[in-house]
Amino acid sequence: MTNIAELQDVDQRSYWQATMPAIPDHAGKPLPDAVDVAVIGGGFVGLGAARRAAENGASVVLLEGETLGWGGATRNGGMCHPGYKHGILQLIAEHGEAKGLAIYNESLDGFNHTKALALEIGAEWEQHGGLSLAVAPSHFAGFAKSLEGYKRVGIDAHIVDKADLRSEIGTDAFVGGLANEMYGALHPGKLIGGMVTQAEAAGADLHEGVRANRVRLQADGRRVVETSRGAIHAREVIVGTNGYTGGVTPSLRRRLMPIGSFIIVTEPLPDELAHEISPRRRMFADTKNFLFYWHLTADNRMLFGGRASMWPSSIMHTAEILHRSMTELHPQLRGIRIAYAWGGKVAFTYDRMTHVGRADGVAYAVGCCGSGVATMPLLGAKVADWVLGAGPAPELAALSFPLVPAPYEGRMWFMPLAGEYWKTKDRLAFREAAVAGAKDKPAG
Ligand SMILES: Cc1cc2nc3c(=O)[nH]c(=O)nc-3n(C[C@H](O)[C@H](O)[C@H](O)COP(=O)(O)OP(=O)(O)OC[C@H]3O[C@@H](n4cnc5c(N)ncnc54)[C@H](O)[C@@H]3O)c2cc1C
Repeated sequence: MTNIAELQDVDQRSYWQATMPAIPDHAGKPLPDAVDVAVIGGGFVGLGAARRAAENGASVVLLEGETLGWGGATRNGGMCHPGYKHGILQLIAEHGEAKGLAIYNESLDGFNHTKALALEIGAEWEQHGGLSLAVAPSHFAGFAKSLEGYKRVGIDAHIVDKADLRSEIGTDAFVGGLANEMYGALHPGKLIGGMVTQAEAAGADLHEGVRANRVRLQADGRRVVETSRGAIHAREVIVGTNGYTGGVTPSLRRRLMPIGSFIIVTEPLPDELAHEISPRRRMFADTKNFLFYWHLTADNRMLFGGRASMWPSSIMHTAEILHRSMTELHPQLRGIRIAYAWGGKVAFTYDRMTHVGRADGVAYAVGCCGSGVATMPLLGAKVADWVLGAGPAPELAALSFPLVPAPYEGRMWFMPLAGEYWKTKDRLAFREAAVAGAKDKPAG
């Protein structure tokens, strides 16, 4: 329950799930005894891998414990952009010029791959660019390096000074911005629906309500996937379980931190109000650790998301936090009804990079750290090529995948402490902005 008038009668479902065409029921079908490739997880990685493996001539079964697309794939913000938490210059510093650029360019290929899929499927692709919004002068100063990196890979980007911000966004809360034209928006539910159709058309056998419990390696080199409905023999197993990774891949679980991210979506805004808040229809994100991301949907709703809390929380409690923050940034949205609120899990890694490789007898692509719409569909396809000998290892496979440095088997006991640490850093950034004379304190 909530006392906030705008939050009465919220539909506690993903807006994308509520507005996507229904995917035909894939539960209860007979399972094969043996296949060339078994895929675990029916999201972007799983469906991308299943389609490509089938196109390579392999027999493929995909196992999804819930329904196809149930995870992050239909719960995300619908923002598509290349790159990782490590910027381009940081990747070059860490891996050398050639490898650093190759790692970044793989994400650019991912962006183009997802964009092509969205256009082909009719998943409401729009490319109006993105705007990073600095909450502190030091963050704004850091944009110069990001811009230098973008120029190295040919991305059209530019700095937006505070004086010019009003041409980009209807708020004075930020110190300055960095515009990047290689940001698009899409309807992830429609994207997943199309990816299901494509994977089946290629010959992949897709199943819902089948949970993989264990993967065993046999003496003959084949794998046995023990599922909630019996065992399947497979020459190769590909895992795309990201923020929902469990005990089926224990060594991945020791390397992934599933963190809740939450979103609210308003009712459609009048055109004039939508234009006032977002005259260029950009994808916005601020530079806090507890960052917010927001943008207009194709039907002019405001989608506003963020990591509202590290403590266990409810959808309605996080919706209240997000609503307060959204209306602090954009008081114009007071009185506008919130139509949908939901949450999902993103998979953070200790080094804040996405990882691809082999472990626990499987090949995997996991750890999107909150940004996987551009990268994960292509990484799934590339992993399928790799394990079938039809393509090279993805560039990311060269990275070592660090353990979470804490005694941890999937229960995130340390996250509230980490959350307080990051919140303190955000407060220090606000103080820096205040001391530097920025007039308005950003929401958060
Ligand atoms: C709230 C939120 C907002 C986000 N916003 C953005 C955004 O705007 N832009 C962006 O780029 N990224 C965003 N992301 C991240 C993005 O959604 C993910 O990167 C992406 O969904 C990862 O795809 P995936 O296929 O790896 O995993 P998922 O789509 O999460 O799919 C994993 C699937 O594996 C299944 N599974 C798990 N274990 C088993 C098992 N043992 N057996 C069978 N099935 C199993 C799960 O049921 C799940 O359906 C967001 C994520 C969230 C949660």
